[in-house]
Amino acid sequence: PVILGIESSCDETAVALVRGDRTIIAQAIASQEAEHAPYGGVVPEIAARAHAERLAPMLAKVMAEAGMTLDDVDAIAATAGPGLIGGVMVGLVSAKALAMASDKPLLAINHLEGHALSPRLADADLAFPYLLLLVSGGHCQILAVEGVGQYRRLATTIDDALGEAFDKTAKLIGLGYPGGPAVERLALQGNPTAVPLPRPMKGSAEPHFSFAGLKSAVLRAVDSGKHQPADIAASFQQAAVDCLIDRLELALAGAGPFPALVVAGGVAANQTVRSALEWLAAKHAMRFVAPPLALCTDNAAMIAWAGYERLALASSDFAGDPLDFVARPRWPLDPDAGKVRGAGV
Ligand code: ATP
Ligand code: MG
Ligand code: FE
Repeated sequence: PVILGIESSCDETAVALVRGDRTIIAQAIASQEAEHAPYGGVVPEIAARAHAERLAPMLAKVMAEAGMTLDDVDAIAATAGPGLIGGVMVGLVSAKALAMASDKPLLAINHLEGHALSPRLADADLAFPYLLLLVSGGHCQILAVEGVGQYRRLATTIDDALGEAFDKTAKLIGLGYPGGPAVERLALQGNPTAVPLPRPMKGSAEPHFSFAGLKSAVLRAVDSGKHQPADIAASFQQAAVDCLIDRLELALAGAGPFPALVVAGGVAANQTVRSALEWLAAKHAMRFVAPPLALCTDNAAMIAWAGYERLALASSDFAGDPLDFVARPRWPLDPDAGKVRGAGV
C-alpha cells in the first residue's frame, strides 16, 4: 500500500508518499526557520498561517513528482497531535478533506508515534521490543516499545525537554534559532570539561529527567564572563549526554534487557548523543539503531509510516479514523503518562 503523510505540528510543513516496502516515493519539507528566527522561537500563529499557505501547493508538488493521483493512494495519514494546535488543525483538516474526496481512510497519527516508529522505516530488521530514547523539542522520554500502539513509558522529564534545553542554551550563548544544530557545531571547538555543570537527576532512583537546573547553570556560566561560548556549548552537551546515559542505565536495570537501543526525535540528529548511545548499546550487547538525520527531525515520511504500521494491523473492515477526529494539543503515547508530576505529554 501507498500512504500519503502530512506533518504540521510545529514549524515544519511536510508531505510524503511512503510505500509499505519502506520506499519513500516522494517527499517535501518546508522549514519556517526564517519566519520564526526574529522571535528566537516558534510563534504559534505565524506557524499556523505558514502551514495554511504552503500545504496545498506542497501536496500538489509531491503527487506530481511521484506521478500519482489520490487513486494511487491507499490511506491519508496526518499528525493529529500533540503540537501547536493551529498547525495541527491545518494538516488534519486537509487530510480529512482529501480522505473524504477520495473515499480513502483517514489515519489520525500521534506525532510521537511517528517519531517512535521512524527507526523501523529506516531499518527493516528492527523488531519489537526495543528500548527507545525519544528526544525532541517537546519531549524527553524513555519508552519500552513493545509493538505498534504498545508504548510503556519508563522515564520522562519533569521540566524541560532536551531539545528545549539545547535551544535555550543556544539563545543564552548568542546563537540563533534553531539552537540544537548551532550548539553542536560550536561544541566541536570547545572543551567538554572546561565548565563545571550539574547532571540533574544523575544517580537518582526516580526514573526521570530534569534539564531546568542545567539551563540555569548555563545562564550562570554565561553571566560569569569567565568562559568561552564554545566551552559552554561543549560542556552543556556533555552534561546532557551524561544524564541520558545515566537514566538509560536505570531503565535497563529496571526493565531490561532489550535486544536493541533506539533513538528518535530531533536531538537524535546530534552526533555526540549518537556516539554515546552507540557506546552504551555495545556495553549491553544491544543493537543500536538511529535513523538517518532527515528522519530524526520532523518529517512526513514518519507520519505516513506510522499510518502504514497501523493499517497493516487493522481489521479488513477498518474504514479509517472518524472524520470528526479532534486535533489534540496534548496526546501522551502512554496511557499512564498523566500520572507523573509536571510531565506534560
Ligand atoms: P516534539 O516532537 O516533541 O513535538 P518537535 O517536533 O518540535 O517536538 P523535533 O522536530 O523532533 O521536535 O526536534 C526539534 C528539536 O531537536 C529542537 O529542539 C532542536 O534544537 C533539536 N535538534 C535538532 N538537531 C539537533 C542537533 N544536531 N543537536 C541537538 N539538538 C538538535
Ligand atoms: Mg522544527
Ligand atoms: Fe517532532
